[in-house]
Amino acid sequence: MSGQRGERGDRDKESLLAARQDILARHCRLSGSGRPLLCAPRPVEKAHADAMWRQQGNDRKAILLDKDHAEQAAREMSELYGEPRYVYRCPRSKRGHYHLTKNRQDVPPRP
Ligand SMILES: [Zn+2]
Repeated sequence: MSGQRGERGDRDKESLLAARQDILARHCRLSGSGRPLLCAPRPVEKAHADAMWRQQGNDRKAILLDKDHAEQAAREMSELYGEPRYVYRCPRSKRGHYHLTKNRQDVPPRP
């Protein structure tokens, strides 16, 4: 048996996903069930009809523990995917939490 087409690709995808989960588990805020907490609209955003107000780009992004963890996760993700990841402070958060992005343009300019 010579293995089916795409088998290796699937395995690679699985191990990539597992490695990603591992990075997220070590550097993200976790829920009680051990899954990374995801960014969600605040009630004030949900109530607001103006699309500009809503920070939709951050929806369902994993929330990093703090800046140090975010930077470490960015390094590990960059290594894993072979392309850079950038850290930015979520404009949605009051106390400050961080996300990763592939696109430097997503990083809001510093105030
Ligand atoms: Zn956020």
